[in-house]
Amino acid sequence: MKNIIFVAPPAAGKGTQSQIISERYNIPHISTGSILRNEIATGSDLGHQIQKEIDLGNLVSDTLIIELLLKRLRNNDCINGYILDGFPRTVNQAILYDKILEDSKSQIDYVFYLNLPIEEAYKRIVGRLTCSNCQTVYNYMYDGTKPKVEGICDKCNGLLVKRDDDTKEVFEKRFQVYKTETVPLIEYYKKQNKLYEIDSSISKEHTFEQIINILDNGDKND
Ligand code: AMP
Repeated sequence: MKNIIFVAPPAAGKGTQSQIISERYNIPHISTGSILRNEIATGSDLGHQIQKEIDLGNLVSDTLIIELLLKRLRNNDCINGYILDGFPRTVNQAILYDKILEDSKSQIDYVFYLNLPIEEAYKRIVGRLTCSNCQTVYNYMYDGTKPKVEGICDKCNGLLVKRDDDTKEVFEKRFQVYKTETVPLIEYYKKQNKLYEIDSSISKEHTFEQIINILDNGDKND
Protein backbone atom coordinates (compact mmCIF):
# COMPACT_ATOMS: atom_id res chain seq x y z
CA MET A 1 0.00 0.00 0.00
CA LYS A 2 1.41 3.37 -1.00
CA ASN A 3 -0.51 6.56 -0.32
CA ILE A 4 1.57 9.45 -1.61
CA ILE A 5 1.14 13.20 -1.32
CA PHE A 6 3.04 16.10 -2.88
CA VAL A 7 3.63 19.51 -1.38
CA ALA A 8 5.13 21.70 -4.07
CA PRO A 9 5.21 25.25 -5.42
CA PRO A 10 3.85 25.92 -8.92
CA ALA A 11 6.11 24.41 -11.64
CA ALA A 12 8.03 22.08 -9.33
CA GLY A 13 6.87 19.11 -11.42
CA LYS A 14 4.39 17.38 -9.12
CA GLY A 15 2.17 16.45 -12.10
CA THR A 16 5.07 14.94 -14.05
CA GLN A 17 6.42 13.04 -11.04
CA SER A 18 2.95 11.75 -10.13
CA GLN A 19 2.50 10.43 -13.64
CA ILE A 20 5.81 8.54 -13.67
CA ILE A 21 5.26 7.09 -10.19
CA SER A 22 1.75 6.05 -11.18
CA GLU A 23 3.13 4.07 -14.13
CA ARG A 24 5.97 2.50 -12.18
CA TYR A 25 3.93 1.37 -9.17
CA ASN A 26 0.61 0.92 -10.91
CA ILE A 27 -1.39 3.13 -8.59
CA PRO A 28 -3.72 5.92 -9.79
CA HIS A 29 -2.61 9.51 -10.18
CA ILE A 30 -5.31 11.76 -8.77
CA SER A 31 -4.90 15.41 -9.67
CA THR A 32 -7.41 17.76 -8.03
CA GLY A 33 -6.50 20.37 -10.69
CA SER A 34 -7.56 17.86 -13.42
CA ILE A 35 -10.77 16.98 -11.56
CA LEU A 36 -11.58 20.70 -11.52
CA ARG A 37 -10.65 21.14 -15.19
CA ASN A 38 -12.96 18.22 -16.07
CA GLU A 39 -15.80 19.99 -14.28
CA ILE A 40 -15.00 23.19 -16.21
CA ALA A 41 -15.11 21.23 -19.47
CA THR A 42 -18.72 20.17 -18.81
CA GLY A 43 -19.72 23.86 -19.09
CA SER A 44 -21.78 23.65 -15.87
CA ASP A 45 -22.45 26.64 -13.58
CA LEU A 46 -20.12 25.07 -11.05
CA GLY A 47 -17.49 24.79 -13.79
CA HIS A 48 -17.79 28.51 -14.55
CA GLN A 49 -17.31 29.42 -10.90
CA ILE A 50 -14.26 27.17 -10.67
CA GLN A 51 -12.76 28.70 -13.83
CA LYS A 52 -13.05 32.19 -12.33
CA GLU A 53 -11.14 31.20 -9.20
CA ILE A 54 -8.40 29.39 -11.12
CA ASP A 55 -7.94 32.32 -13.51
CA LEU A 56 -7.45 34.62 -10.54
CA GLY A 57 -4.83 32.30 -9.03
CA ASN A 58 -7.12 31.54 -6.06
CA LEU A 59 -7.90 28.19 -4.46
CA VAL A 60 -11.41 26.76 -4.69
CA SER A 61 -13.23 26.07 -1.43
CA ASP A 62 -12.13 23.26 0.88
CA THR A 63 -15.69 21.88 1.00
CA LEU A 64 -15.87 21.51 -2.77
CA ILE A 65 -12.44 19.93 -3.08
CA ILE A 66 -13.12 17.42 -0.29
CA GLU A 67 -16.44 16.45 -1.88
CA LEU A 68 -14.87 15.88 -5.31
CA LEU A 69 -11.91 14.02 -3.85
CA LEU A 70 -14.02 11.71 -1.68
CA LYS A 71 -16.02 10.73 -4.73
CA ARG A 72 -12.80 9.84 -6.57
CA LEU A 73 -11.26 7.91 -3.66
CA ARG A 74 -14.28 5.59 -3.58
CA ASN A 75 -13.20 4.10 -6.92
CA ASN A 76 -11.92 0.53 -6.69
CA ASP A 77 -8.60 1.45 -8.30
CA CYS A 78 -7.55 3.23 -5.08
CA ILE A 79 -7.50 0.02 -3.07
CA ASN A 80 -3.70 -0.47 -3.30
CA GLY A 81 -2.81 3.16 -2.82
CA TYR A 82 -2.86 6.36 -4.85
CA ILE A 83 -0.95 9.54 -5.54
CA LEU A 84 -2.54 12.86 -4.66
CA ASP A 85 -1.29 15.64 -6.91
CA GLY A 86 -2.43 19.07 -5.70
CA PHE A 87 -4.16 18.01 -2.50
CA PRO A 88 -4.03 19.03 0.30
CA ARG A 89 -3.32 22.68 -0.46
CA THR A 90 -4.20 24.06 3.00
CA VAL A 91 -3.77 22.89 6.59
CA ASN A 92 -7.55 22.77 6.91
CA GLN A 93 -7.72 20.34 3.98
CA ALA A 94 -5.00 18.23 5.62
CA ILE A 95 -6.94 18.07 8.88
CA LEU A 96 -10.15 17.09 7.08
CA TYR A 97 -8.24 14.49 5.09
CA ASP A 98 -6.65 13.02 8.25
CA LYS A 99 -10.16 12.58 9.60
CA ILE A 100 -11.22 10.75 6.43
CA LEU A 101 -8.17 8.49 6.70
CA GLU A 102 -8.86 7.76 10.33
CA ASP A 103 -12.47 6.82 9.56
CA SER A 104 -11.37 4.49 6.77
CA LYS A 105 -8.49 3.06 8.86
CA SER A 106 -6.03 4.20 6.25
CA GLN A 107 -2.95 6.42 6.36
CA ILE A 108 -0.56 8.58 4.37
CA ASP A 109 2.74 6.83 3.75
CA TYR A 110 4.89 9.47 2.06
CA VAL A 111 4.70 13.23 1.70
CA PHE A 112 7.19 14.51 -0.86
CA TYR A 113 8.05 18.17 -0.55
CA LEU A 114 9.48 19.28 -3.90
CA ASN A 115 11.76 22.18 -3.14
CA LEU A 116 12.24 24.71 -5.96
CA PRO A 117 13.52 28.31 -5.61
CA ILE A 118 10.97 30.95 -6.59
CA GLU A 119 13.19 32.36 -9.38
CA GLU A 120 13.29 28.94 -11.03
CA ALA A 121 9.52 28.48 -10.70
CA TYR A 122 9.03 31.92 -12.24
CA LYS A 123 11.20 31.10 -15.27
CA ARG A 124 9.52 27.73 -15.81
CA ILE A 125 6.03 29.24 -15.83
CA VAL A 126 6.39 32.72 -17.27
CA GLY A 127 8.82 31.58 -20.00
CA ARG A 128 6.57 28.77 -21.19
CA LEU A 129 5.25 28.90 -24.77
CA THR A 130 3.15 26.26 -26.49
CA CYS A 131 2.72 25.69 -30.21
CA SER A 132 -0.88 26.47 -31.14
CA ASN A 133 -0.70 23.81 -33.84
CA CYS A 134 1.27 20.76 -32.55
CA GLN A 135 1.34 21.61 -28.79
CA THR A 136 5.14 21.32 -28.50
CA VAL A 137 6.26 23.18 -25.38
CA TYR A 138 9.18 25.67 -25.39
CA ASN A 139 10.67 28.01 -22.84
CA TYR A 140 12.27 31.24 -24.03
CA MET A 141 14.05 31.74 -20.68
CA TYR A 142 16.26 28.65 -21.11
CA ASP A 143 18.81 28.34 -23.91
CA GLY A 144 18.17 24.63 -24.55
CA THR A 145 14.42 25.03 -25.00
CA LYS A 146 14.18 28.32 -26.90
CA PRO A 147 12.58 28.18 -30.36
CA LYS A 148 15.09 28.90 -33.18
CA VAL A 149 12.91 31.73 -34.47
CA GLU A 150 11.15 33.83 -31.87
CA GLY A 151 7.44 33.00 -31.60
CA ILE A 152 7.55 30.20 -34.21
CA CYS A 153 7.54 26.41 -33.69
CA ASP A 154 10.74 24.64 -34.85
CA LYS A 155 8.77 21.55 -35.83
CA CYS A 156 5.73 22.83 -37.76
CA ASN A 157 6.15 26.62 -38.09
CA GLY A 158 3.02 27.06 -35.96
CA LEU A 159 2.51 30.17 -33.85
CA LEU A 160 3.76 29.90 -30.25
CA VAL A 161 1.29 31.11 -27.64
CA LYS A 162 1.29 31.70 -23.90
CA ARG A 163 -1.36 30.00 -21.75
CA ASP A 164 -3.77 32.47 -20.10
CA ASP A 165 -2.61 31.50 -16.60
CA ASP A 166 1.14 31.65 -17.40
CA THR A 167 1.41 35.40 -16.84
CA LYS A 168 3.61 37.20 -14.31
CA GLU A 169 0.51 38.45 -12.44
CA VAL A 170 -1.13 35.03 -12.06
CA PHE A 171 2.23 33.49 -11.13
CA GLU A 172 2.76 36.06 -8.37
CA LYS A 173 -0.72 35.48 -7.00
CA ARG A 174 -0.35 31.67 -7.11
CA PHE A 175 3.03 31.86 -5.39
CA GLN A 176 1.62 34.12 -2.69
CA VAL A 177 -1.24 31.66 -2.11
CA TYR A 178 1.30 28.82 -2.00
CA LYS A 179 3.38 30.64 0.64
CA THR A 180 0.50 31.53 2.94
CA GLU A 181 -1.76 28.49 2.47
CA THR A 182 0.39 25.54 1.44
CA VAL A 183 3.84 26.07 2.99
CA PRO A 184 2.46 25.50 6.55
CA LEU A 185 1.81 21.90 5.43
CA ILE A 186 5.58 21.31 5.53
CA GLU A 187 5.61 21.70 9.31
CA TYR A 188 2.31 19.84 9.63
CA TYR A 189 3.71 16.70 7.97
CA LYS A 190 7.17 17.08 9.50
CA LYS A 191 5.50 16.74 12.89
CA GLN A 192 3.79 13.57 11.66
CA ASN A 193 7.20 12.25 10.57
CA LYS A 194 5.96 11.76 7.00
CA LEU A 195 7.86 14.47 5.13
CA TYR A 196 10.66 13.84 2.62
CA GLU A 197 12.36 16.89 1.11
CA ILE A 198 13.35 16.53 -2.54
CA ASP A 199 15.52 18.95 -4.52
CA SER A 200 13.44 19.68 -7.60
CA SER A 201 15.69 22.29 -9.21
CA ILE A 202 17.99 20.10 -11.36
CA SER A 203 15.89 17.98 -13.73
CA LYS A 204 12.85 15.75 -13.71
CA GLU A 205 15.11 12.67 -13.89
CA HIS A 206 17.07 13.82 -10.84
CA THR A 207 13.84 14.49 -8.93
CA PHE A 208 12.46 11.07 -9.83
CA GLU A 209 15.66 9.27 -8.79
CA GLN A 210 15.43 10.77 -5.31
CA ILE A 211 11.79 9.74 -5.01
CA ILE A 212 12.21 6.12 -6.13
CA ASN A 213 15.19 5.77 -3.86
CA ILE A 214 12.89 6.50 -0.95
CA LEU A 215 9.98 4.41 -2.23
CA ASP A 216 12.10 1.39 -3.19
CA ASN A 217 14.45 1.36 -0.24
CA GLY A 218 11.71 1.94 2.30
CA ASP A 219 13.70 4.88 3.60
CA LYS A 220 11.16 5.73 6.29
CA ASN A 221 11.62 8.70 8.59
CA ASP A 222 11.58 6.56 11.71
P1 AMP B 1 -2.97 22.41 -10.32
O1 AMP B 1 -3.29 21.71 -11.61
O2 AMP B 1 -2.73 21.46 -9.16
O3 AMP B 1 -1.90 23.45 -10.44
O4 AMP B 1 -4.31 23.20 -9.91
C1 AMP B 1 -4.83 24.23 -10.72
C2 AMP B 1 -5.74 25.11 -9.87
O5 AMP B 1 -6.85 24.34 -9.37
C3 AMP B 1 -5.09 25.71 -8.62
O6 AMP B 1 -4.37 26.89 -8.90
C4 AMP B 1 -6.30 25.97 -7.75
O7 AMP B 1 -7.00 27.13 -8.17
C5 AMP B 1 -7.19 24.77 -8.06
N1 AMP B 1 -6.93 23.65 -7.11
C6 AMP B 1 -6.30 22.46 -7.39
N2 AMP B 1 -6.24 21.69 -6.29
C7 AMP B 1 -6.82 22.40 -5.29
C8 AMP B 1 -7.04 22.15 -3.90
N3 AMP B 1 -6.61 21.01 -3.29
N4 AMP B 1 -7.67 23.11 -3.17
C9 AMP B 1 -8.10 24.26 -3.74
N5 AMP B 1 -7.90 24.56 -5.04
C10 AMP B 1 -7.27 23.65 -5.82
